[in-house]
Amino acid sequence: MSGNLLNFINGQYEPPESGEWQIRGRSPDGATDLAMLPESDSRDVVRAVESARAAQRQWAARSTFERGESLQRLACELGSRADDIAAEMCVEVGKPINEAHAEIENAVKVLKFYGGLGHTLGGEVIPSTRDNVHLYTKAEPRGVVGAITPWNFPINLPIVKLAPALLAGNTAVWKPASAGASTSMKLVECFRAGDIPPGVINLVLGSGAKIGPAFLSPNIDVISFTGSTEVGQDLRSKASRVGIPCLLELGGKNAMVVLADADIEAAATTAVQGAFGYAGQKCTATSRLIADESVADALLARIENLMDSLEVGMPQTSTTNIGPLISGNSVEKTLVEIDDAIGAGARVVAGGDRVTVHGGERGHFLAPALVSDVTPDMMLAQKELFAPVIALMTVNSLDHAIDLVNASTYGLSAAIFTRDLQSAFLFSEGVRVGAVQVNLPTSGLEYQAPLGGRANSGAGGYEGGLAALNTYRHLKTTAISYS
Ligand code: NAP
Repeated sequence: MSGNLLNFINGQYEPPESGEWQIRGRSPDGATDLAMLPESDSRDVVRAVESARAAQRQWAARSTFERGESLQRLACELGSRADDIAAEMCVEVGKPINEAHAEIENAVKVLKFYGGLGHTLGGEVIPSTRDNVHLYTKAEPRGVVGAITPWNFPINLPIVKLAPALLAGNTAVWKPASAGASTSMKLVECFRAGDIPPGVINLVLGSGAKIGPAFLSPNIDVISFTGSTEVGQDLRSKASRVGIPCLLELGGKNAMVVLADADIEAAATTAVQGAFGYAGQKCTATSRLIADESVADALLARIENLMDSLEVGMPQTSTTNIGPLISGNSVEKTLVEIDDAIGAGARVVAGGDRVTVHGGERGHFLAPALVSDVTPDMMLAQKELFAPVIALMTVNSLDHAIDLVNASTYGLSAAIFTRDLQSAFLFSEGVRVGAVQVNLPTSGLEYQAPLGGRANSGAGGYEGGLAALNTYRHLKTTAISYS
């Protein structure tokens, strides 16, 4: 994977204007040197924006059906290259191979979903209150979209933005996370092969802190950002000062509640899946487990038992359940948070230590951790760790559980395990989050449904489903009198 990465502007691979590259070091599993990252700067972003602007009219002039067809072709390209892309993702961001494949499969479905909408997407005819007036809406693209994406889903998250944006007739400048840059280039190969015209999608690689400010350009019509709360909120406040709308999908501190009547076996299995999938590095990962005190011990024992069979290993190994964390810094920060919680009275029931993996001796491996006796004021219950850690808290009623779910500055996803329909509905109505899952994990939301984080988890609209389209289009209302 060594070598130099390139930008992709107006259908061509290009070196950065600076002519310089930055060393990225080794892969999360410590086994591979990563390709060098272009030191792009505002000049590269300006050129990418000009290219997107120049291509936008022609792209928008195609019918929605044609743009949908392009997305369908892109889906085929992506699907046909799944093995190669999954292998790259596995090395670069340490995603276990089975999860890497699942991510690509999902991205293919997202492309097919939006591609299929090309047949039916249109405006609305609204009954007029006046005689002989035809009142209708028609959607128009916003223009150029600035898409900024994180490393943890380097294929699916860009597609979740680019598919509705392109379908709506926009062109895009895409800035992927530096940690997932090589995998992004694999997606660019699909754009080339999939007949997406030059200039419709432009990729600029480089440090976000350095090139992010160039996205606050009058030539960018909307910014669509997914990433950390800190970076996203700062970007949105700057964008609002220059009048650019900004969609934010941010971090989470997602809670799963287990009531006294729950199926404990199913709850334990789901908690393990929701908390430890991709080593907890998902925005919707379960990081707080809130159990009724009458079942907490049984739940804890079952989870501990399930954790015994989890394999921490190299991401390429098909039996690996938990691969490396993205960086050494991420392991360090997690260990500090666990130590602080212990100092404040929490108890580590299982895991939470560094692990040495054969072939990945220089990698960032951490055994998943189950921590009990956590209280809501502890940082372990408040901070997004982005690591495989379950913080267990207990409650004595549904209301208490809802209060605890809401005792967070985040509001992304929450789950409840119960056999009682009334509890399920009351929970869904009571929690301040974008997505509620009943007898399901906090993660694994479906692409055809909207997700919009609340509070520190998002702002400015929705991602997924039909709702996402409104981030990328204007609705124009026309009234025609024919009397
Ligand atoms: P991040 O550090 O905020 O980075 C996200 C993106 O922003 C990267 O492309 C980054 O580039 C760029 N960036 C950094 N500084 C910038 C600036 N000043 N202006 C503009 N862009 C800038 O987040 P991450 O570590 O990649 O991703 C993990 C976070 O994403 C977690 O908090 C997770 O919860 C969240 N996330 C949310 C969702 C959701 O749907 N809600 C989904 C996935 C992940 P560089 O990589 O070059 O720094």
